[in-house]
Amino acid sequence: MLSVMTFATLLKNPSRRVSRILTEFSRRLEPIDDAGLSDMARQSQSISRRFFGRTMRLFAPLYFSNECINNCVYCGFSRDNRILRVTLTLDQIEQEARYLAERGFRSLLLVSGEHPKFIPNHYVEEVIQRVSQIVPSIGLEIAPLETEDYRPLVQAGAEALVVYQETYDRDVYATLHTAGPKRDFDWRVECPERGYDAGFRRLGIGALFGLSDWRQEALRLAEHVEYLLRRCWRAQITIALPRLRPAAGGFTPKVKLSDRDLIQLLCAFRISFPQIGIVLSTREPAALRDLLMNLGVTTMTVGKWRARFVERRLDGLVDEDRPGRPPSIMLDQVEEVIVATLEEKPKNANRLVYATGSPSGSGSAIDVEEDPKKTSQGFWHSVAKRAPVCTGAPSQQHPAGGQGHTIQP
Ligand code: SF4
Repeated sequence: MLSVMTFATLLKNPSRRVSRILTEFSRRLEPIDDAGLSDMARQSQSISRRFFGRTMRLFAPLYFSNECINNCVYCGFSRDNRILRVTLTLDQIEQEARYLAERGFRSLLLVSGEHPKFIPNHYVEEVIQRVSQIVPSIGLEIAPLETEDYRPLVQAGAEALVVYQETYDRDVYATLHTAGPKRDFDWRVECPERGYDAGFRRLGIGALFGLSDWRQEALRLAEHVEYLLRRCWRAQITIALPRLRPAAGGFTPKVKLSDRDLIQLLCAFRISFPQIGIVLSTREPAALRDLLMNLGVTTMTVGKWRARFVERRLDGLVDEDRPGRPPSIMLDQVEEVIVATLEEKPKNANRLVYATGSPSGSGSAIDVEEDPKKTSQGFWHSVAKRAPVCTGAPSQQHPAGGQGHTIQP
């Protein structure tokens, strides 16, 4: 261990040293003209190719419980929201996992709320044991635990741990997390360190963009990345940059991260931290998603795209109209694509609506519903239908479109 100071302790020190990497990262977040952004995009694309080639890691989230004792004002699963609560049985989880495995998924992220009674540690361990018989790669996005409580989960077969800090602004964090153990900022922000000490070798962190000033969030997230790269040096570090969506309970994002800002943000991370993984939600608008895939994204959630992925593999993840294999954007096209993405109206007007922040994500051409009885999406869909308050699918209840807590390191 190279550092004994936790990241929480480090954050509390206002006179902490700012490294050269963070200084440069901060400069890359400053307002920039199109030519400058285009330069960043080229650099980002070149670095991505060098470090990751043309590979794209895909994973599917498997939600197994929406029980939760926390109140997070941006989340439809908050304990005070009167929705139907369900925890899948082991047999149901196995059925879900087999369904996904039969369709080619090899990486699953097991996702749940936080509830010691309905989701005790021994149950999570049993879940991992079951699922590890079916897929080789398992990640967890569950309640933060002590190091000793994580160890059995690693031994059972989990290899990745995902914990978003949500926001790195302590004051904002306090106003958004009004009840439950999640109120403890330090407990949460130190979670990746505890997970690493327990044996996880892939760590995913992130912030929910929409809760606080995006540049400040990005700076703290970058600081966290830098810390973990030193402290947890044997682990693969991955970040996610989800944009918040309205949730059950009436929450509306307070701060907007525009498409242009997201491009700049992603490029800044890729250039400053070439070795980290970057996750993108497939709920981002198609034109933007295609661009970002070429600029630095290494991992994508494909839960909502299952049918297209099953049918056409990676080709299914690009625009419907685009036949055959890719790719979409070559190096010399980056600038014009950025301009087109930012300034021109796409042929499909629905996508423009979605891209500019349709509250429910309606109009998206990428949501494909399979047999709702067979899939986890279907599970949540049916939960939403039966819930007395929530009227949307889970993607509308959860802060980042159902994938706010689903990143894969
Ligand atoms: S964000 Fe997570 S911890 Fe908070 S209410 Fe939702 S499921 Fe529970």
